[in-house]
Amino acid sequence: MRVLVLTGAGVSAESGIPTFRGKDGYWKNFDPTRLATPEAFARDPQLVWEWYSERRQRIRNARPNAAHEAVARLTRHLGDFLLVTQNVDDLHARAGIPAERMVQIHGDIFVTRCSRCEFKRYDYEPEQERAVPNCPDCHALMRPGVVWFGEQLPWNELKRVENFLDGGACDVTIVAGTTATFGYIIDWALQASRGGELIEVNPEETPLSRLATRLLREPAAIALPRIVDQLISARHPRL
Ligand SMILES: [Zn+2]
Repeated sequence: MRVLVLTGAGVSAESGIPTFRGKDGYWKNFDPTRLATPEAFARDPQLVWEWYSERRQRIRNARPNAAHEAVARLTRHLGDFLLVTQNVDDLHARAGIPAERMVQIHGDIFVTRCSRCEFKRYDYEPEQERAVPNCPDCHALMRPGVVWFGEQLPWNELKRVENFLDGGACDVTIVAGTTATFGYIIDWALQASRGGELIEVNPEETPLSRLATRLLREPAAIALPRIVDQLISARHPRL
């Protein structure tokens, strides 16, 4: 069985990570969709850095929920599997999904990279100082290793998704906890699910809803464990 799972902010919201959209997403009266941009960083790098420091802190303190656990369980039962997440947190990884079976298409919040050169490092510990760090190689400002609004998707990760899609259609494609705002999420879901099942897990309707073969209007932490049980038992039928 070949399976693609696409996840978004709704999956991590249930672990207490606020989504960008909605009133919970606001930070000190700033709209996150306007903080997560190259323009915001150019205008006020300190403000953007502080916001990401707080998000890192919140993520370190959060725990994977039943949705993350369910996707990890699926990974252990299937050989032909890829998770593409839009989430920059590490909750899927902490639930036990190996890096080679997961693509973080919007980057990793715990990576700090140079805004000018190729230098980057993994920063999991709380920041020692609150100021925006400088690159040890070229002294330019460092920034979080995430994809901001208006930026290109990382080429390597994009390639990994395309390679998986080129490997053939999926029996099951699951899109969970994402409003499918980005065109590429819809494109990948459709390309993967051609001829197979396309399951949408989201409490609200999305642009993908009318194309799905099955709709589950529930939070991911409720619906995903059930779907995964069904998929695993379908793969190992009781004789
Ligand atoms: Zn640099």
